[in-house]
Amino acid sequence: MKNVTALLRDSMKVKPASKRGARQKTSTPKGVTRLNFNENNYGPAPEVTKLLIDSIGRVNEYQDFFAIDLKQKIADFYGLDKTAEAASETNEFGENSKPEDYVIIGAGSSAVIDMLGEIFINPGDEVVYCMPSYESFPDMVNDYGGKRVEIPLTADYHFDLDGMYEAVTEKTKLVVVVNPNNPTGTYINGAKIEEFIWKVHEKAARLHPDGDQDVVVIVDEAYYEYVDDPTHYSMIEMVQKGYDRPLIVQRTFSKAYGLAGLRIGYAITQPALADAIMKACQAWNYSGPGLLACEAALDYQDYIKKVKALNIENRNYVADELKQLGFEVVPPAANFIFFGIPEDATAEEREKMDPVRVKNELAERKILIGAPNGHNRVSIGTAEECKMFIAAMKEIVR
Ligand SMILES: *Cc1c(COP(=O)(O)O)cnc(C)c1O
Repeated sequence: MKNVTALLRDSMKVKPASKRGARQKTSTPKGVTRLNFNENNYGPAPEVTKLLIDSIGRVNEYQDFFAIDLKQKIADFYGLDKTAEAASETNEFGENSKPEDYVIIGAGSSAVIDMLGEIFINPGDEVVYCMPSYESFPDMVNDYGGKRVEIPLTADYHFDLDGMYEAVTEKTKLVVVVNPNNPTGTYINGAKIEEFIWKVHEKAARLHPDGDQDVVVIVDEAYYEYVDDPTHYSMIEMVQKGYDRPLIVQRTFSKAYGLAGLRIGYAITQPALADAIMKACQAWNYSGPGLLACEAALDYQDYIKKVKALNIENRNYVADELKQLGFEVVPPAANFIFFGIPEDATAEEREKMDPVRVKNELAERKILIGAPNGHNRVSIGTAEECKMFIAAMKEIVR
């Protein structure tokens, strides 16, 4: 067929299609260990699995179009009833905000990210974030014709908040923080992120003295449940306390909750923004069993605690073993480890530890990990999978 390009929206004209030959299955046959997608290999709470099985009897039905039940459940979970009560703002129909109005649901937080691009990005709008980070954000910017303003991570692989602050201009529409970051697994304490958000909005107010535009801050907290620091806190707290500048905090059921295949993610934001973002929600795109399972999953917080504890135990084991094998291990805060060749490695060590070689050698042994940004990224699986991974690594680098 000729000239398909001419049919496309401008931003899609320049977006390269993925090569047919390079497309790979992301599903794996039985017997292959997946340590490449940061999934929770312990799976969801057993009660959730049981509920899912029961819900299959109703798959002939369309699901709840606006996902009201799950939104209410999430709003309850975060105590947003008090926030809604304290807020006096009404919408264009003169209605008061209800707790569930603070919640956006998407078919995975990937879908939420796409909704954000569709709602906010005009061609030329600047979007500030760090790289390497989660690739869905640059994809979103490209898809809607925005301008990527990419700040390198700091030397110790953290989001460079000072650099990002400097990069905010009058053309900035979105500022994105991924915390903990993927693929590096590093995190920044909540107090520092909160300070950054206040500062960005102060700068935005200075850049737009007429108040004609503001900057939307997006904080992706997909791995929040794994962070083991009692002083760390979620930016959801800012929304809870009634912060009234544009702030969107993203979460997902795909990671700690062990429900990636159900495709349900969510974000917490102010009702006016949530109403706007929901304009971009695709019709009927939630899965019914998914909504039910995620509602139930929030009730089993003891299970999430257990998942977190197991993750720490397994992660410590993998990190220690990798260090003993001579790798540089970036301190991990989530359910994966970013590791690479240390600076002082010899030429021979470099060859053995080469991330692409390591990834391929592991794949030969039916263990999948990633090799992003000149490093390797391994997800923390079950205790047994971690042992298999380390045993294979010993074979590969010794
Ligand atoms: C895995 C991940 C998500 C979650 O994606 P879903 O679409 O909800 O499965 C979001 N952000 C980051 C940084 C991730 O690594």
